[in-house]
Amino acid sequence: MGRDVGAELARALDHLTPQVAALLGVPPDRPVTVRLREEFLFDADGDMTDGAVEGGSNPAIHLGSRALAPGMREYVLAHELVHWYVRGRGWDLPYLIEEALAEFVGLLFGPRGFLAARIAEIEDAGIEPDPAVLKLDSEDLRGMNEEDQRRACLSAFALAQIIGFDRLPVLAAEGKGSAADLAALL
Ligand SMILES: [Zn+2]
Repeated sequence: MGRDVGAELARALDHLTPQVAALLGVPPDRPVTVRLREEFLFDADGDMTDGAVEGGSNPAIHLGSRALAPGMREYVLAHELVHWYVRGRGWDLPYLIEEALAEFVGLLFGPRGFLAARIAEIEDAGIEPDPAVLKLDSEDLRGMNEEDQRRACLSAFALAQIIGFDRLPVLAAEGKGSAADLAALL
């Protein structure tokens, strides 16, 4: 028999939920349901993804099988927990800035060296933080080729870093996280 994946996930969630909530400055007061898919998971746009947050009457975090790879579980869970809290509180953040925040928190809990690698990737690719990415939504991203998507995501990460990953949740909670609000800070 394989390991008890459900119990491992529950432990990871117990451990991550209060830490992610603390980073976002929110109480860890929401019951969190995680559903494991034993197959690849696809998002609303049909792209393969490691995890997804489902809202509605039966909210849950869904994890695809790739999220169970060694070292990946905490990374994917922490990333999806950020989306969970952002949506749960109705925060208004630009699409790619929410993704950047989720990535940052995910990378904090992910395999050692992942966060440094992301920052090095931005430097190596000569990515400039471009305020234009604040206006991009998922539809815009879908219309881009993979390399342009990668650069837009890295640019948003660089922008979020300048604004401050710790400051973004504060701004969002104050209703000052819109694209226009964030652009005015740059
Ligand atoms: Zn995400």
